[in-house]
Amino acid sequence: MNVIRIRGARENNLKNISVEIPKNKITVFTGVSGSGKSSLVFETIGAEAQRQFNETYDSYLRSRMPHYGHPEVDSIQNLNVAIIINQKRLGGNARSTVGTVTDIYTLLRLLFSRIGEPFVGYSMVFSFNNPKGMCPMCEGLGTVTDINLDALIDKNKSLNEGAIRFPAFQPGGWRWTRYVNSGYFNNDKKIKNFSKDELHMLLYAEEHKPKNPTKAWGKTMLYEGIIPRIKSFLKKETKESKRKEEELREILCRQTCPACKGARLNKEVLGCKVDGKNIADCSAMQVSHLIEFLKAIRNNQVRSVLDELIARLTHLENIGLSYLSLNRETSSLSGGESQRIKMVRHLGSSLTGLLYIFDEPSIGLHPNDIARLMDIILQLRDKGNTVLIVEHDPDIVKIADHVVDMGPGAGKEGGNIVYSGTLNGLKNADTLTGKFWRMHRALNHKPRQAKTFLTVRNARLHNLKNVTVKIPRQVITVVTGVAGSGKSSLINQELPRQHPQAKLIDQKLLRGSRRSHLASYTGIFDALRRVFAKTNHVSASLFSTNAEGACPQCKGLGVIRLDLAFMEEVEETCDLCEGTGYQKKVLDYTWNGKNIIQVLKMTVAEAGSFFQGSDKELLNRIREMGLGYMTLGQPLSTFSGGERQRLKLAMEFDEQGQLFVFDEPTTGLHPSDIEKLMSTFHRLADRGNTVIIVEHNLDVIAKADWIIDLGPGGGSDGGCIVFEGVARDLIKHGESKTGHYLAKYIT
Ligand code: ADP
Ligand code: ADP
Ligand code: ZN
Ligand code: ZN
Repeated sequence: MNVIRIRGARENNLKNISVEIPKNKITVFTGVSGSGKSSLVFETIGAEAQRQFNETYDSYLRSRMPHYGHPEVDSIQNLNVAIIINQKRLGGNARSTVGTVTDIYTLLRLLFSRIGEPFVGYSMVFSFNNPKGMCPMCEGLGTVTDINLDALIDKNKSLNEGAIRFPAFQPGGWRWTRYVNSGYFNNDKKIKNFSKDELHMLLYAEEHKPKNPTKAWGKTMLYEGIIPRIKSFLKKETKESKRKEEELREILCRQTCPACKGARLNKEVLGCKVDGKNIADCSAMQVSHLIEFLKAIRNNQVRSVLDELIARLTHLENIGLSYLSLNRETSSLSGGESQRIKMVRHLGSSLTGLLYIFDEPSIGLHPNDIARLMDIILQLRDKGNTVLIVEHDPDIVKIADHVVDMGPGAGKEGGNIVYSGTLNGLKNADTLTGKFWRMHRALNHKPRQAKTFLTVRNARLHNLKNVTVKIPRQVITVVTGVAGSGKSSLINQELPRQHPQAKLIDQKLLRGSRRSHLASYTGIFDALRRVFAKTNHVSASLFSTNAEGACPQCKGLGVIRLDLAFMEEVEETCDLCEGTGYQKKVLDYTWNGKNIIQVLKMTVAEAGSFFQGSDKELLNRIREMGLGYMTLGQPLSTFSGGERQRLKLAMEFDEQGQLFVFDEPTTGLHPSDIEKLMSTFHRLADRGNTVIIVEHNLDVIAKADWIIDLGPGGGSDGGCIVFEGVARDLIKHGESKTGHYLAKYIT
């Protein structure tokens, strides 16, 4: 049979499992969070496919490539070359844009070099990374660094009170003496009371000898305004210390380049137009509008370029990104948007017989966008590829030819295949996922009534159309709308600006060093080190891998980093400490019969009984968030986005009367995990907290107290409030796409 055959997989929590996956079909992997889906799909199948692929190079090349170790598996047969499309953000520097990473900008340059009027040169000059094309002032960045006067000067203070916020200019500082001794100012006068001339003298005066300085002024010293002063040492001191850099960051801001107005290109290139638009105008249009513009161009000379451009842009549109513009910097894209951009890179490919692996492609997508995404995945399969998807979204699970359900639980309680077969079979299976598919859905939540509201006023950020919206306090509000409709702009950016007390609980990386793990992040590790020290009458720092306890070979990292000149960095487990990061002698000390490493290997659930007081409470809260399967020593770098978010929530949870904002908290969660999370949100609201959730998941929407639906479309077609109210009214609303899908879902 035409299958990929996996035997004896044991990576992470996998229990020596064997499974067959049909080729040229779509297989979806389901199961609670932590059940082992990623361990099987990414760390076993994906990793082995990459390793086998690298083996096909000759030994000379291979010795210079990253070395992929064998995953913990007996054998995998019949693998194809894999393309792994995950949610790792694209990142990139300021020169990396949607247009450049998709190569669509290259085609646009070609178009302009062929039919632009007047002709300015070959396609290279339309590149903002090329010296011939870039704006000379910003060198193609579109922004310039400037000094932020409001951050630098406190107008409500005098010089003696420390009006100049930059450290060396503070009272007593040596740069400060230059101003108070200059004889130009009343040093007790508040800056807001300075005359125009005084202010100009303070800020902008060029270098000169002051007329009436005080006695403290040295004979040869020259006076210079603050701004030119700072600018000149900005230029000189190229090797700033870290601290200086931070001080500077406070007073510097990036501003749109005044020469090119953010267009990144020089005047000549910007003067070259097609149908009245230059290439920067085209890059600034949202994808759907750019397609219309290109379709209207009548010129047969460039038919093939136009066709290719329109085809690629249509891929972006089909994948739910029609609201993006080509000039959008990739560093500002969300994980879901990044994943979809990576998808676009492969859609044009005519290669077949590949293995595509997706990590929750539904992230950030409204049910309306998901319908189109499914078509794309079906096309990939029909071209003759094999598709593996880790996913919870029921609409995506529905397109599966084959389902592999993992569990039964998470962590140690998971790691088995509890069902493998058709979706219809799963619906009758005795598993958590099967149970979910049999469940009857109804609108049975009785919404809480709010007494007071907070208001976001006149929001105009990005695509928001001067939105004013009331958000009820002490209840659960869910904010919905298609991708790009403006949810994040309104809730993650504008709301905290107007209400700084908002606590944003997102999936971003947790702060911490490379050595950080769950216990150190939560503070439980401090208690742990103290009790080890006390029990064994030794110093607490002995139990720390970044202090006394560190393995001398790897300095506590547990890995040795190999820097290969032109490849990604490679890490190898340290052989001296076997990856623990600890010196051997530390392991002789025990507490309750376990050494520090054995304690760090305990799960949160197991550790509960080892601790007392606030540490025990915290561990319990972490367990309640569905993270009981994680070990105390699990490195922060291996946490999934959903795990990071729930850990942050557990840390904040004991607060009352707070304003919490969650960005797609169901990411990575199985329906049964979502149920638990929802009850956590309800407990938060019961304790008087205001809970605002940006979310597409229909189970969450159905259980909201209040719904705010943005739209109607994405980008410039969105940015308005389509609906505010309760679920019962939303499903009757004629215009709301969310209402349409919610109505379908509950009946
Ligand atoms: P899923 O994809 O189903 O959410 P995972 O495969 O990510 O589950 O995780 C399965 C188990 O393995 C979990 O207990 C998880 O915490 C653990 N795990 C995953 N990656 C690592 C790692 N790098 N180190 C230690 N434990 C890990
Ligand atoms: P949603 O959260 O509903 O998916 P967003 O608020 O992210 O929508 O986006 C709304 C609009 O604002 C989109 O057109 C998007 O491209 C634009 N936008 C969002 N973030 C940025 C940014 N950092 N720079 C420029 N445009 C942005
Ligand atoms: Zn410029
Ligand atoms: Zn070591």
